[in-house]
Amino acid sequence: MSLDAVSEKRYLNQLVKLGDMMGDGLHHEPGGNWISKEYTKICKALGYIPKTKRNPARAKAINEAMAKRVIDVKCGKCCLELKQTRAGSKRAECTNGHKWQLLK
Ligand SMILES: [Zn+2]
Repeated sequence: MSLDAVSEKRYLNQLVKLGDMMGDGLHHEPGGNWISKEYTKICKALGYIPKTKRNPARAKAINEAMAKRVIDVKCGKCCLELKQTRAGSKRAECTNGHKWQLLK
């Protein structure tokens, strides 16, 4: 995604204003946390912070590896079967809520 020059300039101006406010510590004031939120949002929009993109191929590889791991590994506390906590996660959980990291 690329920004047109006008939006980029607008964002940059906003970023400077927000930066000033943060410099004054306004984002630590009650009700001021929108300032840091907005700041982060604009940084992302400008591409300063990489958007956390989920990598489907990586998630798939993890899911497949986890599917094998949970067959071999049981809960170390109660010996129940483990289930991946969520797709793409390297952690698994038994029905008692014990969590284990199965992949590195
Ligand atoms: Zn357990």
